[in-house]
Amino acid sequence: MSDGIASSYDVVDPATEQVLTTVPLADGAQTDAAVARARRAYDSWRRVAPADRGRLLRRFAEQVEHSLEELAQLEVRNAGHTIGNARWEAGNVRDVLTYYSAAPERLFGRQIPVAGGVDITFHEPLGVVGVIVPWNFPMPIAGWAFAPALAAGNTVVLKPAELTPLTAMRLAELALEAGLPEGVLTVLPGKGSVVGQRLVEHPDVRKIVFTGSTAVGKGVMAGCAAQVKRLTLELGGKSANVVFADADLEKAAATAPSAVFDNAGQDCCARSRILVQRSAYDRFLELLEPAVKAVRVEDPSLETADMGPLISRGQWNRVASYVPDDAPVAFRGTAPDGPGFWFAPTVLTPTDPRDRALTEEIFGPVVAVVPFDDEADAVRIANEGEYGLSGSIWTRDMGTALRVSRGIEAGNLSVNSHSSVRYSTPFGGFKQSGLGRELGPDALHSFTDEKNVFMATEG
Ligand code: NAP
Ligand code: MG
Repeated sequence: MSDGIASSYDVVDPATEQVLTTVPLADGAQTDAAVARARRAYDSWRRVAPADRGRLLRRFAEQVEHSLEELAQLEVRNAGHTIGNARWEAGNVRDVLTYYSAAPERLFGRQIPVAGGVDITFHEPLGVVGVIVPWNFPMPIAGWAFAPALAAGNTVVLKPAELTPLTAMRLAELALEAGLPEGVLTVLPGKGSVVGQRLVEHPDVRKIVFTGSTAVGKGVMAGCAAQVKRLTLELGGKSANVVFADADLEKAAATAPSAVFDNAGQDCCARSRILVQRSAYDRFLELLEPAVKAVRVEDPSLETADMGPLISRGQWNRVASYVPDDAPVAFRGTAPDGPGFWFAPTVLTPTDPRDRALTEEIFGPVVAVVPFDDEADAVRIANEGEYGLSGSIWTRDMGTALRVSRGIEAGNLSVNSHSSVRYSTPFGGFKQSGLGRELGPDALHSFTDEKNVFMATEG
């Protein structure tokens, strides 16, 4: 374990580059102490009656609702999210808590017919769950893990990304204000290499939920293997937006920018490859250009903003590396000058299928458009590479829609729409985009282990 030295981090507003506040970073010993408190809290939290656990989660949801505007404004400043998005994100935490507040009373086992007795199953909580969150959606990604984990009777220690700790810290205060006992939900800002790694290695942490890059996720998976620790991974993506010639091209082109430029492209589900059937390719690009130029990239606190800045200078440099001087730029939108990590929406038309812009997750507002010939070609191109998170299919032919939906190796597809995430439906990746599923009706089962009990009825 790397203990590190207790230190602090200057949280920066990515739209202004001004320091907002300084947050202390936990070291290894503080992480151990937080896990020990969570372990003690688990002994009583798991015994809270199901209806009371549900009631406490609904009160937590009400606290989030009361503080929705405050949380949203905090995210605008800490992460550069548009105010519209940030309100949706805080509302999503409220909704996920409400959805899972009904779960404790519905965590049914089974009675299985056997000879000589009665056989019943229980879904037992695991213990302390460690949650490691990235900077791109600090609130929703935290809520998708802590709400079902707590509902199932676990306690949680959550590490936000170093860049974006503020809303998670506020959510932990709201949990206490709602009446959740001390130690049930702990938010521990710190470095991934210190706090994150210690959560992975700590024997009293029984499960890790990791959302982040595929590279770091593989290390987390290897770390969990040492203790056969349960693990959910939500990793990267390179999702395809597949547009057939028979589609409503106007609508497909009008919505394509938000499917990749939302959150400045820093979205694991970003449709960062647009595959267009060859006969509609030129027309689609003609329609796409005004839609891209209309994207309002501006101060994210403005109600009119469609897109804010990137999260950091480091991320800006990474994204810019995909648009060198000789890049095949078809057209670009606009972005403000001056301070802030601004990057104009950019459309590339690469011709080499090995172009990095087509094979690597960019995590910025850069999209590559390529032609395809027929259904089989579309599925082949969509399935290239090791990611398989999300994707969209635009066609008026429902046979095509279903065949292509079944053909694409990805966890979350939408037809004539770009929706990826609903709290009531399962979310997660195929291939190297992840392991396990979050959200939906079954999420509690990934925060419990099934126990079988046989009771003899014959003397
Ligand atoms: P990242 O570098 O992998 O970091 C994610 C989290 O892991 C951060 O909290 C980070 O802490 C922590 N971490 C870093 N090294 C660690 C280690 N050795 N042990 C344990 N934890 C460690 O990813 P990111 O750059 O923040 O986020 C971007 C990536 O996340 C993209 O690839 C994106 O696709 C993916 N993502 C996936 C989903 C999904 O649901 N599939 C959702 C959102 C994002 P620090 O930041 O403090 O170092
Ligand atoms: Mg990182």
